[in-house]
Amino acid sequence: MNTAARSRSPLGRMSLPSPGCRICGFTSRLTRQDTIAEVLLEYAAGWQRLLRTPGVSSRRTGASAWSLLESGCHVRDMCLLFHNRLDAILGQSVIAPRLSVGADTDTARRYRDEEPQQVAEELGRAAGAPARRLAALTDDDWDRDGPRLSDPRLTVGFLTRHLLHDIAHDLARAVRDSSQQ
Ligand SMILES: [Zn+2]
Repeated sequence: MNTAARSRSPLGRMSLPSPGCRICGFTSRLTRQDTIAEVLLEYAAGWQRLLRTPGVSSRRTGASAWSLLESGCHVRDMCLLFHNRLDAILGQSVIAPRLSVGADTDTARRYRDEEPQQVAEELGRAAGAPARRLAALTDDDWDRDGPRLSDPRLTVGFLTRHLLHDIAHDLARAVRDSSQQ
């Protein structure tokens, strides 16, 4: 992260620590501002590969709460919600306009009935749009927080790292589960 940007914060706030995870291997070195968009696209590509594997089922296996298909839908929707949150903090982007699929992310969506190939397509777009936006952010953008968020440490940088870890963690679990079938 850019420590110079943080030190300019008028609130002098402390940033929250980057997640370091022994389970999925996600570390703070993956969260550099100049590579973070690339990392998001790599994880999205990993999910797309899994979803495009022939015979992807909506069946839940092992201790996982969700099937691979359901997890893929969840990752897609996390990306869409993240993009909406970026809009809320930074204003609407002209670089990455809101996706139409983003209008339908309520929890009533029945993930297990979705079609894996289509989810893979949507996931690619859902991650690609915010990735393009992240790649264009300034140092000050990374340090901004949402006016309606209760904790000023919830900056764009923190929320992005948090999203990436969620996606990486779910991906590591899905790869492990699919290799055991
Ligand atoms: Zn993890």
